[in-house]
Formats: sequence, structure tokens, C-alpha cells
Amino acid sequence: MGQFLDGKNLADERAAILKTQVSKLKSQGIVPLFCVINIGDDPSSKLYIKTKKRRADEIGIVQKVYQLPKTQSQQSLLTLIDRLNQDKKVYGIMIQLPVPPQINLNEALEHIDPEKDVDCLTPSNVGRLWRGDHYVEPATAHGVLALLDHYQIKLHGKKVVIIGRSSIVGKPLAALMLERDATVSILHSKTKQLAEYTKNADILVSAVGHANLITPEMVKENAVVIDVGINRVNNQTVGDVNTVLIKPKVSFITPVPGGIGPLTVESLMEQVVKLTRRKNGR
Ligand code: NDP
Repeated sequence: MGQFLDGKNLADERAAILKTQVSKLKSQGIVPLFCVINIGDDPSSKLYIKTKKRRADEIGIVQKVYQLPKTQSQQSLLTLIDRLNQDKKVYGIMIQLPVPPQINLNEALEHIDPEKDVDCLTPSNVGRLWRGDHYVEPATAHGVLALLDHYQIKLHGKKVVIIGRSSIVGKPLAALMLERDATVSILHSKTKQLAEYTKNADILVSAVGHANLITPEMVKENAVVIDVGINRVNNQTVGDVNTVLIKPKVSFITPVPGGIGPLTVESLMEQVVKLTRRKNGR
């Protein structure tokens, strides 16, 4: 029977360490502050912002939310980003996704000062990530690696399959895992016969957003399964993996909730602190 990889506990442990670091910074007059720009009224976005706020408060980080209307113009968004770039009290800036269709997201991201790009989405930080010279690390990918490290699951020489190629999860995770000497395949919606790849994976990561996408016959015996997906089914939060059926077959598996979700939020806070310290030469 596989073991659960407990992300909740690890996130709490890491948050406690971060809290000590933050109080030391504060004693030196430095307050880690990051800004979330939320455009429109997507209910999931509101929930994510609330979850982040709770963790930020607990650690002592200040999260400032800029709530903008659904009709927000591109130009005034860029003006706001410019203002936050100039503000010396602001150490991190992120745009909550998704954004309404009139917003040119790439242009907005390019406007963020890379030294404040807490999500690692500006072109220079993405380039640095692939070059192995990380300025910041995207929160979910950082959280996945933290969990694997905690359970001493090595990546060196492993066959990793990641389903999902988004800029916030699949691609950066592939970059970080490649750097750890894993052999990485990235699958997506146009991949034919997912199982042809997944059943050979030593480590399988699903970051899609489809409940029950991963069934037992797609998974190798004793594999490690990381379920990044978050789906609402019958008022319950579930991942992409059919955990009940798959857990007996694998060595380790993340629960949803309580797996990668809490580590993503905690990892974001780690990035805010990292940027704050760097800016202050600490
Ligand atoms: P995106 O919608 O940006 O990306 C989803 C990816 O899944 C795409 O690459 C898409 O392929 C691929 N895909 C869709 N359907 C299939 C399919 N049937 N077979 C194979 N691949 C498929 O989502 P995100 O990356 O933002 O998020 C993915 C999931 O992870 C969501 O459930 C999200 O809620 C969750 N999430 C969880 C986090 C956490 O902390 N646990 C953090 C961030 C996200 P294509 O590129 O071809 O469209």
C-alpha cells in the first residue's frame, strides 16, 4: 500500500521556519510585502487570494490586493505595475490568473520588474530558470521538489512524466526536474495515448484539472504519483488521480487536498522572503 506524501504538514513546518526569518527581518525594519493584482471577479481567484492571505498573515508577510474591475484597461494596468515597480516598499508583484480577454497578459508580465517577479513569469526569469540560474522559483514547482526532497525521493536518473504544459506548472517543473538529472517527458491535450508514456514513469505528475484522468492501468507498479490538479466534484475538492484505486499500487502519492496545494502557497511566501532579503542584501 502506498504512502501519502503529506504536503500540509511540511508546509506548516516550513512556514514556521519562514516566520522566524520574517521576524528577524522585521526587527531590522524590513517588512516583506507583496502585491496581488486581481482583475475581475473569478470566484476561484478570490478563494486563492484568501488562502494566500491566511498564510501570509501567519508568517508575518504583508499581502496587498489590488482589486481591479472586469473592464480594466491594459494601459491603466501597466500604469499600476509601473507604480508598484517604483515603490521601494513592494518586494513582489503577481497577477492573479485568469485575466479577462482584453488584457494582454504577456505584455503585462513583461512590465513587471524581474526583481519583483514573485511568480517567475517574466521572460528574463523564465530564461534564468531554464539556464539553471534561478532568481525565483515558481511556487508549485518549488513545492513539488520540496515534497520529494522531504521524503528523500531522488530524481537523478528517474523517468518523469508530467501531464500539463502550462507556464505556471508543467514547464517550470520540467526545467527544475531536468536540472536534477531526471529524464522528463511533458504530455498535453494533443498527446495521443497518454498511457503509453505514463505507465513507464517512475514519477508521474498530473497538472491538468480533470478529475479521474489518471486510472490504475496508466500507472507503473511502485511509481511516485504527484497530483497537482484541483477539481470540484459533488462539492468536494479532488485531484486528477483516482487516489482510492491507485494508492495500493504505488509507493507514494499526494492526497488532494493536503498535498501540493498547501506547499504551493507556502512556497510563494518563501519566494517573497527571498526577494525581500536579496533586495536588502540579506
Ligand atoms: P492549464 O489549464 O493552464 O493547463 C492544463 C494543461 O493540461 C494543459 O497543458 C493542457 O494541454 C493539459 N490537458 C488538458 N486536458 C488534457 C488531457 N485530456 N490530457 C492531457 N493533457 C491535458 O492549467 P494549470 O497548469 O494552471 O493548472 C492545472 C491544474 O492544476 C488545475 O487543476 C489547477 O487548478 C491545478 N493547480 C494546482 C495548484 C496547486 O497548488 N495544487 C497550483 C496551480 C494549478 P494543452 O496545453 O494542450 O491545452
